[in-house]
Amino acid sequence: MAMSEVWAILVAAGRGERLAADRPKAFVAFNGRPLLAESLSRLDANESIDNVVVVAPVGWEEPAILCAEEESASKVVACVTGGDTRADSVRAGVAEVPDEARVILIHDAARPLVTEAVVSRVLEALDEHGIDGAVPGLAIPDTIKQTAAGLIERTVPRDGLFAVQTPQAFRAEVFRRVLAETRESPTDCAGLVEAAGGRVRVVAGDRCLAKVTTRADLEFVEELARR
Ligand code: C5P
Repeated sequence: MAMSEVWAILVAAGRGERLAADRPKAFVAFNGRPLLAESLSRLDANESIDNVVVVAPVGWEEPAILCAEEESASKVVACVTGGDTRADSVRAGVAEVPDEARVILIHDAARPLVTEAVVSRVLEALDEHGIDGAVPGLAIPDTIKQTAAGLIERTVPRDGLFAVQTPQAFRAEVFRRVLAETRESPTDCAGLVEAAGGRVRVVAGDRCLAKVTTRADLEFVEELARR
């Protein structure tokens, strides 16, 4: 895959209500920098990524641009305002990607510890003929129960079940078409492509890609980063 074709969209427009902070999640302190800075600097430094679009919460566009400047993130070509749902924020980011792009890679700012290895795995999986997208996933070690009103109804066979993470990479033309055809808001981008009948490969994820949702997650992922 040619190097000039990969656009990363860093979605950072969530409110992060479960963190109960005085600012959106992407701007809470993460080992002394805004959480956004960690994933932004990692994506910017990744040689497979050519351009980065940051999707910021409404009113936080300027601080996002400042953050990119402070990180010397020279691949950031746009910082746009996000929407009410994650899917709306993804749409706002994709609107900045030119037609010539071959690959769109979507990453959650809430998963700060994105690695070069996981970006390589999703991009390499896209080289396979007939594959529209690739996502990192972790096999689920626990037994999974389906419940209703707090009571177990059944045990769900866990063969083939994965907890899916970001970064998620897609063929740009497929992803654009799917976004144009649907108004659904699944919790991840692969959900849109699956619903449209696309073929999405799961590659090995990484426990370091844990998502920051609560204060406890923040402390846990900060500790992972320090190690
Ligand atoms: O809320 P949650 O942690 O699941 O969000 C995952 C990612 O999507 C976060 O990086 C968040 O900033 C982003 N998001 C967004 N716009 C929204 C909701 C979430 O960019 N409206």
